[in-house]
Amino acid sequence: MRDMFSVIFVVMIIALAVCSIIAYRSHKINSISVALLTGAFIPPVIGNLIIIRSGEKELSLLGEYIYFIGMDIVMFALLNFAFEYCNINMKRRWVKHIVYLLIIGDIAQFIVNPVTGHAFDNEAIEVDGFPYYRLVPYLGQSLHRILDYGILAAVIIIFLIKTLKTSRFYSERYYAILITMIVAALWQTVYIFSRTPIDRSMMGFGAFGMLVFYFALYYRPMKLLDRMLAGIASEMSESLFFFEANGRCIWANAAGVQLAGIEGEDFEGAPLLLKDRFGEEYQFQEEYISNFVIGTGDDIKYYLLEKHSLWDEKKRLAGSFLSIRDNTDDQQRLKRKMFNSTHDSLTGLYTREYLYERIHEVLSARQSTEYFIIYIDVRNFKIINDIFSNEFGDRALQNIAEWIKSWMSDECVFGRLVGASFGVCIPVEEFEPAVIEEKLSPFVIENGTLGYHILIHLGVYKVVDPDMEVSLMLDRANLALSTIKDEYKTHIAYYNDEIRSKVLWDQHISAQLHSAIAERQLKPYLQPIVDRNGSIVGAEALVRWIHPTDGFLSPGVFIPVFEKNGMIVEVDKYMWRCACEILASWKEKHGDIFISVNISPKDFYFVNVVEEIKKLTAEYGVSPSQLRIEITETVMMTEAEVRMKTLNEFRKMGYIVEMDDFGSGYSSLNMLKDMPVDVLKIDMKFLSKSKDDGKAHIILQNIINLSEDLGIDSLTEGVETESQFKTLNEMGCKLFQGYYFAKPMPLEDFEDKCL
Ligand code: C2E
Ligand code: CA
Ligand code: CA
Repeated sequence: MRDMFSVIFVVMIIALAVCSIIAYRSHKINSISVALLTGAFIPPVIGNLIIIRSGEKELSLLGEYIYFIGMDIVMFALLNFAFEYCNINMKRRWVKHIVYLLIIGDIAQFIVNPVTGHAFDNEAIEVDGFPYYRLVPYLGQSLHRILDYGILAAVIIIFLIKTLKTSRFYSERYYAILITMIVAALWQTVYIFSRTPIDRSMMGFGAFGMLVFYFALYYRPMKLLDRMLAGIASEMSESLFFFEANGRCIWANAAGVQLAGIEGEDFEGAPLLLKDRFGEEYQFQEEYISNFVIGTGDDIKYYLLEKHSLWDEKKRLAGSFLSIRDNTDDQQRLKRKMFNSTHDSLTGLYTREYLYERIHEVLSARQSTEYFIIYIDVRNFKIINDIFSNEFGDRALQNIAEWIKSWMSDECVFGRLVGASFGVCIPVEEFEPAVIEEKLSPFVIENGTLGYHILIHLGVYKVVDPDMEVSLMLDRANLALSTIKDEYKTHIAYYNDEIRSKVLWDQHISAQLHSAIAERQLKPYLQPIVDRNGSIVGAEALVRWIHPTDGFLSPGVFIPVFEKNGMIVEVDKYMWRCACEILASWKEKHGDIFISVNISPKDFYFVNVVEEIKKLTAEYGVSPSQLRIEITETVMMTEAEVRMKTLNEFRKMGYIVEMDDFGSGYSSLNMLKDMPVDVLKIDMKFLSKSKDDGKAHIILQNIINLSEDLGIDSLTEGVETESQFKTLNEMGCKLFQGYYFAKPMPLEDFEDKCL
């Protein structure tokens, strides 16, 4: 017996130690308290092992000390475990601490027992012909038992409450521990009171420790898992069907029952019902994910079918399940989203990005067909929006979109680029310029009873390299538009090599402007301005580019380029500085001669013209009256009020403001009265016509008279003959400029001949 129990105890000690170490290393929830508890069972078992092996009073006593103090540690570990495992958050922490104190007290009283002898002693009895020292308990031992049983009772109550309170899926993990605990406790009680040799209840402790180890760390409530999975499957919006290996349907969830139209619990009928709906294909393969489209038009339905098979450990088919998702809403949302992202919301045509993509596709797939890329532009669309309303503008765009659609075949791709411009890709033989020209003159948009004419132009580029970027081809088509001279007569322009070389030229000179200014390749030429007596009173500064390789460049070849790309502001700032430099050098001897400088409408966008000129005149010490400012009437086309304010600022500071090219554009006499200018420069075109044109003569006379009345001096440009000079003089014109007096010339020449 003793030997048998010795072996059992040793095995238990090893098992408990292993459990404790595993628990300690596992880093799972509660693992530390489990390690502590399983470990705590070891000392009492060791104590008992010593007792049954010793055969000596002293050694047995040592075993008993280890046993009882060990039991105190067990109680501490048990309480600690109970709190953690049952998730008890004690508000009154002091209760726990008092219990811990009592345990320490109990250990203390055992420690003093060898001296006081108040707790226990032992007495020898014979077991199997061998002395076994049995415990003789005194008062201290009774106190120890009261404490141990008290703690045990508290732990049992904690587990009992927890078992009753938790869901029955979980309670298993509590009541298994609870029952074992009660059994172990009863067993020990029986031992204590029967005082039988050898504490067999130690085995109960061992079993309890291992059970705790398993439940706390490794137990998964499978019942709960089953229930959860079944619950999830039934609640899922997807339809689910489960099949045996032979294809028999054994279960379908609620959605599946509804989808297939299964009656009652007749799951076996499901395969047939599904075949009716999805066709034979749905059951062909054991595993697949596939989209099914059923029905057409408004009744169209999209389904995603997913079939998976289950295999056993020997790789034999165990069954399969099919999930069916109704994707109709998603698909329709996706389609709508696709449409919205690829179609312009106003006109319903393709968006620019999508148009590029589609054109690229068409061109890449082309065989022998040749294509045109067309850029369609509505001129002055902003004015249409401003004069009428945005709604009218929108309607106009919709009408234009409709019209474009009307001459498109299936072979064509077209869309809206931006604002009032559209792009088209059309096979060459389908493009009928004559028909289009006819429609475009005039293109009328109805507005109530009124019809509004809009000007539409088409720039056409013939595709040479289909791999070229679509945006580049459209740029070229757009460039062709710039060649349209008579915009009311001609509506279609073709891109050609001339345009191409023009673009290259533009790029060529634009790239060089910066260094040209730095190297002073740009030169101010001066053209004299004379008074009624023919005496020189001033000069206009006109730019020339003395190009190192291209030679002498007149402003006509580069000014329009820079006006277009905004670089004009660099030229002008340079020219203003040159004019100030010259005026500063003349200050002493010719302080009465003025210089007029040109200000491009674009300058107002890029610099604060007033500040810039003020700064320059101050820097060179030039009097404002010496520097005249030439602006054109187009300056007033945008933000008229702001511009007027600017001009008035100039005048207030003493600069003389001249209105250049009067009569060449939209100018009206009416406009003149609101213009804050000091001098009117009458355009030379006016003059050349006026030679033998009676009417022009009258108009010229009236302009001069009117400007006189308004207190504005008149200056006529482009005076080429003596008779013109005479006539204008008689008409009352004050100032004159033209080849008759002198052509524009370099500064040195001007200083030689004119000063
Ligand atoms: P614009 O300001 O109207 O300058 C007058 C133009 O008429 C000058 O041409 C001048 O050479 C030319 N001209 C003068 N008298 C006669 C004449 O009797 N008969 C004819 N047929 N032409 C005459 P240019 O210098 O070629 O300048 C052309 C245009 O370039 C200028 O017209 C002006 O708009 C622009 N421009 C010239 N220099 C500058 C500049 O520094 N800045 C800006 N923004 N534009 C400039
Ligand atoms: Ca001018
Ligand atoms: Ca002019």
